[in-house]
Amino acid sequence: MNLMTKEKPYNTLNAFYRYKFGKKVFKIPLNGNFTCPNKDGKSGYGGCIYCSESGSGDYAGNKLLSLKDQFEQVKKMMHNKWNDGLYIAYFQANTNTYGTVKRLRYLYETALSLDDKIIGLSIGTRCDALNEEIYDLLSELNEKTYLQIELGLQSIHDETSTFINRGHSLKCFDEAVKELRKRNIEVVVHIINGFHIETKEDMLATVKHLNKLNIQGIKIHLLHLIKNTKLGNMYLKTPFKMLTLEEYVDITVAQIEILNPNIIIHRLTGDAPKELLIEPQWSLKKFVVMNEIDKLLRSKNSYQGIKYLKNNLR
Ligand code: SF4
Repeated sequence: MNLMTKEKPYNTLNAFYRYKFGKKVFKIPLNGNFTCPNKDGKSGYGGCIYCSESGSGDYAGNKLLSLKDQFEQVKKMMHNKWNDGLYIAYFQANTNTYGTVKRLRYLYETALSLDDKIIGLSIGTRCDALNEEIYDLLSELNEKTYLQIELGLQSIHDETSTFINRGHSLKCFDEAVKELRKRNIEVVVHIINGFHIETKEDMLATVKHLNKLNIQGIKIHLLHLIKNTKLGNMYLKTPFKMLTLEEYVDITVAQIEILNPNIIIHRLTGDAPKELLIEPQWSLKKFVVMNEIDKLLRSKNSYQGIKYLKNNLR
């Protein structure tokens, strides 16, 4: 699929949704009050070292409210700007397949029934919170609605996974992608750029690996150091190298250039609440980051996948 334009020389999520649904589509974050197998001891304790208190869902809705109330709150805000849009209910915080099938079914079905304009579900999870029973449930959902599974990976490198206390292997991730695709479920993968123990080549290698898998979307995040996280505290004690804006743009553009041109790019940076962010402070100007990425691509006459074929033939 090629949805690139001169202005946006890569497949944006916005263009993809307009192409698929003919309208603007908003993802509405809902908090199902999940925890994570990397926190409660099933796979690990303490969680990933960059994970915030909210389970990497700082904008993910108030877990103390019902799904209905969470949805209505966000819908009201969206409605002021767009009253013609469609919605995807997005379970974002923590690990949103980590529960019994009964509970998961209840939450997903409740979310889908909140409004006529909800046309699908997006579920953020990890490979170690999926099993046969859950695959069956997801497969059933995939038959009746539009479903995206957002699978965290962050990096393909063992050294990085150990350093960030990721708690699962690359093999576990690859197998989950395979199982989801066997059931024709859309897979969106999260990666993070900016761990100080990784080089640009390491970050490119993560994208090259994803090119070999059958994935439909990617979210490229910038590493944020958040207050009261292990990594944030580590930095405050002994500062280490963080990416500059120029370095982030250079790496991300290089990743876009080698990325399979059929993959939809859901994100090209990240956002963290100002009051929680330690570094990089330049990331608060999200539009500047996006503009710099677009500007560099345009100045080179470049686009998503321009080097994909070359890399793939190697
Ligand atoms: S997988 Fe997500 S929720 Fe779980 S510890 Fe890591 S970042 Fe936090």
